[in-house]
Amino acid sequence: MKAAVCHGFNTPLKIEELDIAKPAEGEVRIKVACTAICHSDIHDMKGELPGPVPFVGGHETAGYVAELGPGVTGFKVGDRVVVSLLASCGTCYYCITGAPHLCQAKFGPPKRTRLSLKDGTPVAQRGSIGGFAEEVLVDQSQLVIIPDDMPLDRAALLACGVITGFGAVVNRTKPKAFESVVVMGVGGVGINALQGASYVGAYPVIAVDTLEAKLEASRQFGATHTVNTMDKDAADKIRQLTGGRGADYVYVTVGSIAAIKQGMGFTGPRGTTVLIGLPPVGQDLCFSPLEIIPTEKHLIGGFMGATNLPVDIPNLVAMYRSGKLKLDELISGRYSLDNIDQAIASTESGQALRNVIMFE
Ligand SMILES: [Zn+2]
Ligand SMILES: [Zn+2]
Repeated sequence: MKAAVCHGFNTPLKIEELDIAKPAEGEVRIKVACTAICHSDIHDMKGELPGPVPFVGGHETAGYVAELGPGVTGFKVGDRVVVSLLASCGTCYYCITGAPHLCQAKFGPPKRTRLSLKDGTPVAQRGSIGGFAEEVLVDQSQLVIIPDDMPLDRAALLACGVITGFGAVVNRTKPKAFESVVVMGVGGVGINALQGASYVGAYPVIAVDTLEAKLEASRQFGATHTVNTMDKDAADKIRQLTGGRGADYVYVTVGSIAAIKQGMGFTGPRGTTVLIGLPPVGQDLCFSPLEIIPTEKHLIGGFMGATNLPVDIPNLVAMYRSGKLKLDELISGRYSLDNIDQAIASTESGQALRNVIMFE
């Protein structure tokens, strides 16, 4: 099967034929229909997140069940599925207490080679998926069946960007009606944090970015106000919009230490700064505890929207079908696998919300 392989950091991807193993116990082979490009894929290709080369990136995938390994239950060949990087064992403390995204089981890297070059060299699957390929081999816990009328390109977005942003608000922090929200960075994740904030009744919902066009676009996803951080008085504007206090919740979707520090400054007393975007490995956050002790601020992580796949994906599909969750508007462009470098360049420029690689 054909895949886009990264042989070295900061080099173009090579489209080539790979061998894929037969599904082992609990594994499922998926025929990929669509994989969207996430900013983490770009970090992977630059060597900013840990992992070996060669590898196949891509972790926002949807497709069809093609082959079941021994012991797989609840799926049949032909099922349409969302494929997420969230594998879970179902039996550890976090799985049985409703936080399977923090599953403690060691899933990867798998003990055996799932993908290999024609000369036998093993190829890693980033995010335990490797969705920039015609086929993927994953654990059954990474899959959720979706209805026949759910378009697969829009379903693919549910695997990472949508759940990470929407879930950071709705699952991880749960703001109450009329609590104030700031979302820093209104790309593929931030836009969905805005949708989540709007859904729970937060007010005001303030979108923060450096690009005016993205701020303008953010209003259709639930932003009630926008602030450009290129403005010197951005912090004053946010205080004015939040009763002089600062926001109750600040979601930092940008993977930058400077943005995190700025976000802590936008947070009011007893407020919560939620770190979502991944800064490059090796960059440390440094701040004075005096920033958070007298103000009783919270600083917390938000991972993959604290998503419980079999509960949250069907809810999001239902919301999309009822018109309450915007997905159509998130897709900026559709590309073939052969044009993946073009799609990635467009994502990296910050102009696209989500570009999707289409396999059918
Ligand atoms: Zn992602
Ligand atoms: Zn577990």
